[in-house]
Amino acid sequence: MQNVEFLSNDIFRIVSQVAKEAGVRAYVIGGYVRDCFLQRHCKDIDIVVEGSGIEIATKVAGVVKSKVTVFKRFGTAMFRYKGMEIEFVGARKESYRADSRNPIVENGTLEDDQKRRDFTINALAFSLQEEDFGKLADPFNGVRDLQAGLIRTPLDPDTTYSDDPLRMIRAIRFASQLSFSIVPESLESIRRNRKRLDILSRERISDELHKILLSPKPSVGLRLLEETELMPEILPQISRLKGVEMVDGKGHKDNFAHTLQVVDNVAEKSDNLWLRWAALLHDIGKPQTKRFEPSVGWTFHSHDFIGARMVPGIFRQLKMPLNEKMRYVQKLVQLHLRPIALVQDEVTDSAVRRLLFDAGDDIDDLMTLCEADITSKNDRVVLKHRHNFAMVKQKLIEVEQKDAIRNFKNPVTGEMIMERYNIPPCREIGELKEYVKNAILDGKIENNVAQAYALMEQRAEEMGLGKRDGRADA
Ligand code: ATP
Ligand code: MG
Repeated sequence: MQNVEFLSNDIFRIVSQVAKEAGVRAYVIGGYVRDCFLQRHCKDIDIVVEGSGIEIATKVAGVVKSKVTVFKRFGTAMFRYKGMEIEFVGARKESYRADSRNPIVENGTLEDDQKRRDFTINALAFSLQEEDFGKLADPFNGVRDLQAGLIRTPLDPDTTYSDDPLRMIRAIRFASQLSFSIVPESLESIRRNRKRLDILSRERISDELHKILLSPKPSVGLRLLEETELMPEILPQISRLKGVEMVDGKGHKDNFAHTLQVVDNVAEKSDNLWLRWAALLHDIGKPQTKRFEPSVGWTFHSHDFIGARMVPGIFRQLKMPLNEKMRYVQKLVQLHLRPIALVQDEVTDSAVRRLLFDAGDDIDDLMTLCEADITSKNDRVVLKHRHNFAMVKQKLIEVEQKDAIRNFKNPVTGEMIMERYNIPPCREIGELKEYVKNAILDGKIENNVAQAYALMEQRAEEMGLGKRDGRADA
């Protein structure tokens, strides 16, 4: 059954033929074979050759008329074929030094190559030799582990993880993506080797974090990161959310568990990686703002603002670019309380307009985050919040239909003001625009040019801005 996808793919017969003519042995290996067994779709195919991967890749690319790309330094070559990426490498034997995840490499056999793989489920290979085409090579019982849902290293885990510590996070990533468990000796080894993360580049770590966040239930991976004590090395701000403090018999909720629940809730609603990041970071300001006030209990005043201020530092620490994605995450963290806070006051049109104005096009994502944030052990509390939330949602729709604030553009522009009053750029222009904007958001005038312009003139006169002679009113 596992071979249906494999057998129906003509590239393997072509590779087989080319390898035979060149007198070398070739195998399909790794993720593709694993995903055949799991009946998961896999676009990337890795082929290992007992000989020169580059030579075979070049010849096969010639046969299928595809353009080959050679990475001489890595001894690999790849081309695209029918929407798949096919990568070739020579079988290798690796040995590692303590200070680097870049091994010393020699030519080797298939078995040598399987030993350098990270997990038993990633070390499976199908033969591409004519005489035993499609035969499985599984020296480490990878299929057994696939069936049992286990992540296990082919060699002693301390060797595998210490050689290349990225494998520790990959183990957790695969557990999260596939809903597998990591075998206990591997978990212990990861914990033991956690300081080895130091030799990794932060970019590789954040790539894996993205994959964990994109998995169906990210809490699986996030919890494993915490259990193995990798989290404090990678994202200490998340580890600090853990724990419940008690004063006078009153505790607050465990913000780590809560955060994981919110991430899972968001993951059920959206595949947007950055919305999931926002969920992960939404309460990041809580540990710093936590206070116990005898009259009210635990409070986290301004954790939204403090949290938003922490976001760039977290991105920087993981070498993630400080771009519009970062600003989006920051904005959602900053605004995450606003929709629910609306209810506690009274849901006035002007408060809703302000929210629409501040959130802009991200309002739907903000509402998804805010709804996901409703977690409590108390069902009555959850119901009450859900009810309030639905009210805000309804109100947002009504106000948006009426006033179109979401993509608010001030009907009065700086150019208009300069032209009208024949003045150069100056502070008053900003003040005037702000005045008009606030009047619209507060519902004092409607969101259109005629009313905005009239208000501008009225206010300008109060401010003593001279009218330009001889100009007709707009
Ligand atoms: P996916 O492509 O879904 O992330 P994959 O298993 O194909 O999963 P890749 O990173 O594409 O993962 O790697 C392809 C194969 O190369 C793996 O299946 C594994 O056999 C091997 N491999 C990748 N990274 C490592 C590593 N750090 N250490 C050992 N083997 C690795
Ligand atoms: Mg792959």
